[in-house]
Amino acid sequence: MKVEEFWIINWDGLPLFKYSPTRSLRIELIGGFLSAIQSFAKTVIEDERGQYLNTLTIGDHSYNFLTDEVYKLYFILKTSKKVKEKIINLYLQRFQDMFIEEFRKDLVAFDGDITPFESFDKQFVKTYDRLASLDTIKSAVTNEAILSKYKDRVLSNEYSPKQAVIQPIKFLKTMNTKDKIKFFTRILPKAASSILNVRTSFKTLQNNPDTPDKIASEEFIKELEEYAYSLGIGKFGYTKLTPNLVYKDSTILYPNIIVLMLEMDKDIIQTCPSFEAFKMIMNTYKLLNKAANKLADFLREHNFGAQAGPALGGVGNYVVLARNAGLGWTGSHGLLISPEYGPRQRLAILATSIENLPINNDEVNPHSWINDFCNKCGECIRECPGNAIYDDPIIKHTGYTHIDNSKCFPQFYNHYGCTVCIKKCFFSDEEYDYLKQKFFEKK
Ligand code: SF4
Ligand code: SF4
Repeated sequence: MKVEEFWIINWDGLPLFKYSPTRSLRIELIGGFLSAIQSFAKTVIEDERGQYLNTLTIGDHSYNFLTDEVYKLYFILKTSKKVKEKIINLYLQRFQDMFIEEFRKDLVAFDGDITPFESFDKQFVKTYDRLASLDTIKSAVTNEAILSKYKDRVLSNEYSPKQAVIQPIKFLKTMNTKDKIKFFTRILPKAASSILNVRTSFKTLQNNPDTPDKIASEEFIKELEEYAYSLGIGKFGYTKLTPNLVYKDSTILYPNIIVLMLEMDKDIIQTCPSFEAFKMIMNTYKLLNKAANKLADFLREHNFGAQAGPALGGVGNYVVLARNAGLGWTGSHGLLISPEYGPRQRLAILATSIENLPINNDEVNPHSWINDFCNKCGECIRECPGNAIYDDPIIKHTGYTHIDNSKCFPQFYNHYGCTVCIKKCFFSDEEYDYLKQKFFEKK
C-alpha cells in the first residue's frame, strides 16, 4: 500500500507530525480542517457513544482516521480509495503504537511544543518501509493475474470472520523494566522469526507448479506424515475448506486442507500468566510456522501445489477446520480440545492441490460430547480474569463462540498473553479418556 500522506493531529487541530513525500502542505490549515470534520461527525452521531468518523473519500483518495481517546489524537492516513480497509487499519494501528510508545511522556506533559515529535520521522519511514515490503508480498495472493491460475481457490464471503491481529509491541505496556529487556532479547526474536515465516509463506507461492498433480499415493501421504512428525508436529487431520472459514479479505488457494497441531508444554502452561509461558507460546508459534513452510516446500518438490497457513498471522478459522478434521471439539474457551493435548496446542494449516487426502467423513464428531461436559463445567467462565467468556454462546455463521475478544484482549496484552483459560481447563492436565469415562458414569 502506498501511503500518500500521513498526519497526527490533536483534537484541537494542532498538527504534531506530518508525512507528505510529494507536496508541501499548509499543515496548520489541513490540521484545522480535518479536526473540524471530526468534530462535525461527532456532533452528527453524538447519540452513538464512542463512534468517530473512520473514512472520508474525496475523488480517488480516501482519508482514514484512527482516534486515540487517551491522548486525544487523530491519526490520519491518505491513500488510494482502492486499498482495503483491513490493510489501512493495520498501518494506522502500527503507526499509533509506535508513536504512543515513543512519546508517551511528552504527550502527558504536552504544553503546545511539538519539537519532541520531529524525531518520529526516521522511525515512521522505517516502519512504513517494513510494512510496505510485507504488503507487497501479501498482494501477490490478492493479485487477480496471479490468482487466475488457482481455479479452485476459496475466497472469503460475507460470513467470514475477521482476523484478530496480534501486535507484539502492545505486550510492553504493563511490563516492568526487567521483563521489557527480556522481551527484546527473548520474545522479539521469536516473534520476528514467526513474521519472517509469514512472509515466506506468501513469497514461496511463486514456486507452486503451474500444473500441479492432484492425486497422491498412499505411500506419499505416509511420507508426508513422517516428515511432519520429524519436524515436531504432534498430530494432523484432513478436511475440506468452505468460504466462511477463510478470514475476511483473504484467499486460500486450494480447498484441500491439512491441519497441523503442535503441543504446548504442560508444566509451563501451569505457570501462566507468566513471562515463561509467554515465551513458550511464542516459541510454539515459531516452530509451527517454520514446519508449515517446510511441509509446503516438500509438497512443491513433489509437484503438488501448496500454501502454508501460518499459526501466527493465519488465513482462516483453524479451530473449526481442526474440529471438522475430527481432531477434537471446541471448548467454552473457544479453543480446540483434543484427546492428545486437551486445549494445549497451537494450530496451522497447509492448503494443497491434493484432492484425495484421507478426509474425515464422520457424520458425527466423536468428540462432540465435550459440548455437554463444558455446559456442566464452566470453570474457564468463572476463572477468566477478564470476564470475557460468556455462559450463553454468541451464535456465528461458523457455529458459536463464548468469547468476547474486546474483553479478552486487554487481559491478553497486559498479562503476558493471559492463557488462564487453558491452564484452568480440566482437559489441560487430566486424561481425555478418564474425563470421558467419569462424565458418562455420572450421566
Ligand atoms: S485469555 Fe484470559 S482473558 Fe482471554 S478468555 Fe482466556 S482467560 Fe479470559
Ligand atoms: S474449563 Fe470446563 S467449560 Fe471451560 S473449556 Fe475446559 S472443560 Fe469446557
